[in-house]
This record gives sequence, structure tokens and C-alpha cells, in this order.
Amino acid sequence: MIIDCHTHWGIAWQERDRGDPARWMAIADQHGITKAFLYPHAGIVRSDSCAVDNDTVAAVAASAPDRLIPVATAWPQMKEQGLEEVRRAVEVLGARALKFHPWLQGFSLADPYLGRICGLAAELRVPIFFHDGTPCYCLPEQIAGLARRFQATCFVLAHAGLVWNWRSAIEAARRSNVWLCLCGPPQRALEVICQRADPDRILWGSDFGFGFADSIGYWLSVFRAARIPDTMKEKILGVNPLHLLQSAL
Ligand SMILES: [Zn+2]
Repeated sequence: MIIDCHTHWGIAWQERDRGDPARWMAIADQHGITKAFLYPHAGIVRSDSCAVDNDTVAAVAASAPDRLIPVATAWPQMKEQGLEEVRRAVEVLGARALKFHPWLQGFSLADPYLGRICGLAAELRVPIFFHDGTPCYCLPEQIAGLARRFQATCFVLAHAGLVWNWRSAIEAARRSNVWLCLCGPPQRALEVICQRADPDRILWGSDFGFGFADSIGYWLSVFRAARIPDTMKEKILGVNPLHLLQSAL
């Protein structure tokens, strides 16, 4: 089983395929992807596209309900409306997780409404995926700070620190409510992360769907080439993502 924990219903895909994931799924099928967490794209670029894009992602996922796991976003800058959107996305649309990209969305992790969203996510029992690994609002240390403040909330570093900050991601993941999604660090970094982080809280992802490029094949081959025990690879690809969904702490 392979569960891709980092994919998007991309703007380019929506413009071309109008909510039909058949061509998107064809690429996932080529690589044997069993299930995928489907994040928004338009909704993390513009606040006025957020609610419509949450609807779109939920509808796309509903057309392949055993395969696609809908993930929603919201904007802390929209204050009470942002909180309402989180509740609507989870309770009405069936989103199973939230995704934030503070760099693209332009908010600080110290935003008080983001804090309230973190509290609400714990109440709704949904994990929060954060873009991470880039300044100025997305450093693993900053997300670890949130995780310290909101210990009942489950946080996922959706890039495990990317190319530059994966060592900080390992430190952040010392907190039991922080998970790492291997999506961006190079092969040697994947090996070190798997030696040092809790193997129960490591996931894998490809960032497929942000554009038309087939990133699944590349990132899967990097992961497969890494010197990580096969049993751990199986856990990361198939077992841990299901635990994330079941527990969300
Ligand atoms: Zn992404």
C-alpha cells in the first residue's frame, strides 16, 4: 500500500479538467498509489477562492471516495469567518485534515486566529499539515512552537524541512504531536530522519498536482533508493498515514 500524504488538486488541473480527477488518477495509478491526501491549491493562493476551492477539493475527492482524502484550508486573516470555514469544511464537506501555507497565505504563526484554528482542529480531531522549510513563517522551529502551545493538536511538517531545514524538522518532531512528511529532503536526509525521528510519526508525500509534472515517480524512487529498512518503508508508506487519520491525537 502506498498513501501519498502530500498532493494537490492544482489550479492547472482544475482549469483543464474541471473537477474530473480521471487524468490525475491515471498518473497516481501508474505508480501504484493506493490513497492520497488531496490538498487545495487555489484556496491557499487567494483568500477569496478559499471556500469555493474547499468545495471543489471535496467534490473531486468524493468522486474517488476510497482513494482521495479531502483536505481543506482557511485564512486566519478572515477571523471568525476563517474559523467558520474550518468548521464547515470538516463538518459539512467532510475534510479529514487542514492544510496551511503561511508563506503563500501571508500570515504569521503568531496570528491569534491561527491559534484558535489550532484549538478548533483538536476539537474536530483533524490534523494540520503545514508547508514548512522556508522563511519567514514556515520554519520547523516556528511550527514546533505552535505544537508546544497546542499540545492536543496534531501537526504535520508537510515537507519535513525541505532541502535546507530537515535537521530542524527532526528537532521539531521530538514533540509527540509533530509528524514529518518526507517530501523534499534529499536521499541522505531521508536516511538520517528515519534513523533519528520516531518511526511511528513519519509519512511520505510527493507534492504531485501542484503543476502537471509527475513528481510521484521521482520522489518515490528517491525514497525507494534510500537505505531505510524495508519494514520501516512499509510503515511510512502504508501504516502510519492510516494511524494519522485514526488518531489525530
Ligand atoms: Zn505542496
